[in-house]
This record gives sequence, C-alpha cells and structure tokens, in this order.
Amino acid sequence: MTYLFETDEHAAMRQIARRFASTHVAPYGAEWEENEEFPIELYRQAAVSGVTPIGYPEAVGGAGGDLGHVLVAGDELIIAGRSVGTAVGLGSHGIALPPIVRFGTPEQHKRFVAPALRGEKIAALAVTEPGGGSDVANLTTRAALDGDHYIVNGAKTFITSGCRADLVTCAVRTGGSGHGGISLLVIEKGTPGFVVSKKLRKTGWWASDTAELTFEDCRVPVANRIGPENSAFAMIMMNFAGERLMLAGQCVAIAELAYRESIAYARERQAFGKQLTGFQVTRHKLADMASQLAAARALTGEVCTRAVQGEQVEVAGLAAKAKNIATDMCSFVCDQAVQLHGGYGYMRETLVERLYRDARLYPIGGGTREIMNEVIAKTEGY
Ligand SMILES: Cc1cc2nc3c(=O)[nH]c(=O)nc-3n(C[C@H](O)[C@H](O)[C@H](O)COP(=O)(O)OP(=O)(O)OC[C@H]3O[C@@H](n4cnc5c(N)ncnc54)[C@H](O)[C@@H]3O)c2cc1C
Repeated sequence: MTYLFETDEHAAMRQIARRFASTHVAPYGAEWEENEEFPIELYRQAAVSGVTPIGYPEAVGGAGGDLGHVLVAGDELIIAGRSVGTAVGLGSHGIALPPIVRFGTPEQHKRFVAPALRGEKIAALAVTEPGGGSDVANLTTRAALDGDHYIVNGAKTFITSGCRADLVTCAVRTGGSGHGGISLLVIEKGTPGFVVSKKLRKTGWWASDTAELTFEDCRVPVANRIGPENSAFAMIMMNFAGERLMLAGQCVAIAELAYRESIAYARERQAFGKQLTGFQVTRHKLADMASQLAAARALTGEVCTRAVQGEQVEVAGLAAKAKNIATDMCSFVCDQAVQLHGGYGYMRETLVERLYRDARLYPIGGGTREIMNEVIAKTEGY
C-alpha cells in the first residue's frame, strides 16, 4: 500500500530507500537489535545510498523533496529493513536538523547540516530533561551568556542517538521562566563539560542508542545559537509537528510489516487440520488489522499533504490526531499479530515480538498521547 499523494518522484525515493534497506539493513538488523547497536559506518552508507539527504533543500546539501518524500522513504526503511531501532537511529537527523535548516545561517548550514547529510556527522535533538519532557516551556537546562559564549549547565535524557552524536540541537533556558526564555544551541561532541552520562536500556527500539546527557559549565559559542535568543519555543513546536507526522508514518510502516507477517504465518500455520486463515475469526482479525491500517495511512497521508501545502495552523492539531490514531492502530495491530503467532509470537526469534515492543514507544515519544489530546483540544478551540 502506498500513500494517495505519491507520484513517480515518490516512487523513485521509495526505490532508493528500499534498495538501501534491503541490502544494508535487513540481513543484519535482527543481530543489531540484539546487540543494541548498529555499525556507525551505516550513517555514511545511508548518505552514499542517497537516503539521508531526502527531503532537505539542495542549497544545504540535500536531495530536495518535502515531508512526503521523507514519509515514503521512512516507510521503506522500516518495511524493507525490518529493524525499527536501526531506522529510528539513522533518522535522528530528521528531528535535529530541520530547525537549523529553517532558522540557521548559511555558515551553520555548512558546519552542521551538510556534514550530517553526507553521513560524516551524527545529529541528535535534545529537548527532554530528567525532570520532565511534556512541559517544554518549563525546561531548566540553563545557558548563561559570558562574552561570546554561553555557559550551559543541566541535563537531557532519552536522547535518540545521543551516545554517538557529533552535534546536539539542544533546547536551553537563556531567558526568564516560561516559553519566552528558551533558545536552541548546537552543542558539539568534545566540548569540555559535555558528557554522555548514561546509555539507557529500553523496552524496544534496541538498535538505536538512547542517552542521558550532562552539561557542566559547558562553553558553547554564541555562533552555535539557532535564530534569535529566547525565540526557540515556536521553532520547537513547529519541529514537533513534522516529528509527529514522521512518527505516525513509522506506526503505519510497523503495522504494515506486522500485518504482512501475520498473513504469511496464518496461511502457513495449521491447526485442527486446516490453515489459520481457514477460521473465520482469523480472517476477521486480519480484516480488522487491514481496515485500521488503511484508515491510519489515509489520515497520515492527508495531514502530510496539508503540511506540504503550507496549512501550518491546522497541521499542528492534525499531526497530533494522526499520531494518536496511528499509535493506537499500531498497538492494536502488533498485539493482534503476536496473538495470531501464538507461542511463537512471544519468542525473541519472531519479528512481531520485536515490533510489539517497538510499538510501545509511540504513545510516549515525540509528545505523549495525553499531550496530543491537549494539542487537539487547543486547536479545536475548547
Ligand atoms: C525511546 C525514546 C526516545 C526518545 N527520543 C527523544 C529525543 O531524541 N529527544 C528528546 O528530546 N526526547 C526524546 N524522548 C523523550 C520523549 O519525547 C518524552 O519521553 C515524552 O515527551 C514524555 O516526557 P516524559 O517522559 O518526561 O513524561 P512526563 O512529561 O513526565 O509525563 C508523564 C505522564 O504524565 C502525563 N502528562 C504530563 N503532562 C500532562 C498533562 N498536561 N495532561 C495530561 N497528562 C499529562 C504524560 O502524558 C505521561 O503519561 C524519547 C523518549 C523515548 C522513550
């Protein structure tokens, strides 16, 4: 199944991503998930294969395209690659770079964006703190101005690709309390005082690294600030809309994979002298999975189309709706997939067992299910 908006151009992007994922990820993904890491060279390979630059303007070193192209490439990375942890680890630049592309200077594009798109640097986004992730306006990591540097003190947690990141797009407090006092700084690996304090162990997404970061009197050049001081809250919120749409797309792809695995298994597995698909209850289970999947794909595709058309005000609420719908759908489909696989569905060797665990992230990451409802309530005006 594809998105309704897709053209020949999207098909070409799909092919690039599919070729990369089936050649360089699928044969090794299960092992990387068990080892909780994929090789660092894969970033370079993804760039050389033409996947990483998809959706970025040519002026900053990208291949052109928009969110729709990013969505279809992400679809293929998960469906053909069969390793969600690898796909999300490779994709952390997709949340770290857009604010730099949009609000950064040409110099910052050259220093941070272009090398990341060439696969030479790994980029991560750090908003969440140990004290809270949902309440972004009250983040506490402090950046105090000292000449032409900021002195950063604080901590970030749950940061995807944080262990290996060369550059971290980091939300810090440069002003007073609330959303009006927040800035974005790019903090580079090797800056004294910037420490990866912990590699975190997780329920799913094993192949991606997730880190806790600490900043202790970390001196960051003012030249690394993205946009004007104290103006980053809107940038972060804008970035969230794109991230939530990508997360909805990942849910659609994970569910598609779990659904395909379930059909194959139900055709092959025998019980009471017939295939599982010989039971009406199995066919109806698969039909429910297919229906919810189609609905989530349709909504995600519609929101993407509206975002590409520039309907910014509506998109924040719509992206939150798409994320919640796709998240619930993915949880349901993966749960049903495990059920259909019986005992094998509970075994580590079975793909749907892993997808079931991977799916649990989505009502939490990139804004929780409850926070999505807050966004929806606000945009609906009640
Ligand atoms: C694997 C993984 C990868 C991640 N990657 C990144 C990353 O790369 N960069 C990054 O910055 N962050 C990342 N995150 C963090 C993620 O975005 C946060 O976990 C999420 O935003 C929730 O924040 P929290 O965990 O602090 O929960 P809290 O904000 O403490 O919320 C706890 C619970 O309270 C509920 N709650 C909070 N406020 C309200 C409210 N107003 N109304 C109703 N309920 C409420 C929440 O919905 C939740 O159920 C990642 C998280 C995980 C697990």
